[in-house]
Amino acid sequence: MPIKDECKLCGRVLPVGYLRRCQRCGKTFCLDCMVPDVATGDIRRLFCLNCARKMVSPKTGNKYEALTHYLRFRSAFTDTVRLSFAQIDGIIGDNLPLEAYRSTEWWKNTLATAHARAWLNAGWETAEVNLKEAYVVFQKTKTQQVSGEHEKTRKKASQQPTKPYTPPPARIYAKRKPSKTKIAKLYARLKNIERAKASQPKLRGTFKPKPAHEKRLFKPKSE
Ligand SMILES: [Zn+2]
Ligand SMILES: [Zn+2]
Repeated sequence: MPIKDECKLCGRVLPVGYLRRCQRCGKTFCLDCMVPDVATGDIRRLFCLNCARKMVSPKTGNKYEALTHYLRFRSAFTDTVRLSFAQIDGIIGDNLPLEAYRSTEWWKNTLATAHARAWLNAGWETAEVNLKEAYVVFQKTKTQQVSGEHEKTRKKASQQPTKPYTPPPARIYAKRKPSKTKIAKLYARLKNIERAKASQPKLRGTFKPKPAHEKRLFKPKSE
């Protein structure tokens, strides 16, 4: 029986033959969630998609900021949010450090760490951490629920979902009627062609062709 393991990105449990270790973060991923070395294209050096993205566009600033935004957004709907570690990876666009998988200490509600500040600043705290199943439950902090300290930011977050998504109107190009000017111009052109044709036989023989400035063209009235 083949040994199976879980992809740290998509969460699927697959036989080890379909899993590789990322050369950057050292965690195991399925081959679907990995790409060869972006710089060299060396297929023996595989990186997980999160690491590959970081290598292509290194992020500046706090990488947990996205988690703050996410939790602020969720606070409009609910008081409790359960997130798998893989989901958090997806939110922050990066992998959680191995420490997060190993120790509940990492999930402690303290202002001493940047990642904890990310959820505390959003008005959330960790209520339950399950390392075995790799998930965490965030709970809205009591102070956040009662006091209006972050009223502005909360308002902002709660405004987002009230706006239902309306798809942009499909562009329908109705066949427009040509304008009167256009019709008149075309009509004038036809007239001119007719006139030129009609006048051609007259030019033959003894008649001298009229000089250009004497030729009066039929013009539309409105211009
Ligand atoms: Zn995967
Ligand atoms: Zn990686």
